[in-house]
Amino acid sequence: MQPVIQTKNLSKQYGATAVLKNIDLTVQPGEFTAIMGPSGSGKSTLMNVLSTIDKLSGGEVWLEGKALLDLKKSALRQFRQERVGFIFQDYNLLDTLTVKENILLPLSLRGFKADEMERRLQPILQALGIEGILAKYPSEISGGQKQRVASARAIITEPAIVFADEPTGALDSRSATQLLEQLVGLNETFGTTILMVTHDTYAASYCKRVIFLRDGGIVNEIYAGEMGQKVFYDRILETQSLMGGKLR
Ligand code: ADP
Repeated sequence: MQPVIQTKNLSKQYGATAVLKNIDLTVQPGEFTAIMGPSGSGKSTLMNVLSTIDKLSGGEVWLEGKALLDLKKSALRQFRQERVGFIFQDYNLLDTLTVKENILLPLSLRGFKADEMERRLQPILQALGIEGILAKYPSEISGGQKQRVASARAIITEPAIVFADEPTGALDSRSATQLLEQLVGLNETFGTTILMVTHDTYAASYCKRVIFLRDGGIVNEIYAGEMGQKVFYDRILETQSLMGGKLR
């Protein structure tokens, strides 16, 4: 199977500071992977480089078999628009659009018909518990609600790859669980590949694989395999403590 993401010796520098060092990473289609590590270890930078938002400084990256460095700007834009869903920390909702318009924006831009948009919208709204705020504007809803709206917008296009940076960061535990279950559903139903940065062991335990970053390098990696979620949760905690305490 062709990997969705493959990197070899990937590095990223800001000025003289090496933020990512010699990252070799392969992500297969349908994997649901968490990236954990202390603050400043390079998690967001890695996500930004892999999602083509930021440029790499050295090494190589292949996305769905294509070398990133060979892709022209237009091909990168097309990749982002057609293949990728983003759930980032700062939501990026448009203030002048309602919640519903924000969520449907990626579909309207592609010329989807109204009934097809509604068909996709309803199950996502229910799963995320945001049916009641469709007519509101971003300025009228809470941070947690914004995060769920941003998540709905990211997954309504049924993307092949979802990049999620601390998607449960602003959510209470009930909403966090709903969002994680939505991601699991997406992963299982559509085989969507998901890469999720999180500092939260509970969130990571929903994944099938956890990669641990430290000082810009991958220092450890565990797979859930046949483990149940509870056992995997304990394994993640154990790995964190072996690595020297809390990963935040
Ligand atoms: P994490 O997501 O693990 O907290 P980041 O990827 O945000 O880590 O940051 C890794 C390191 O890179 C940090 O030391 C941070 O200060 C630095 N860094 C991130 N973005 C920039 C930037 N645009 N310019 C300079 N340094 C940056």
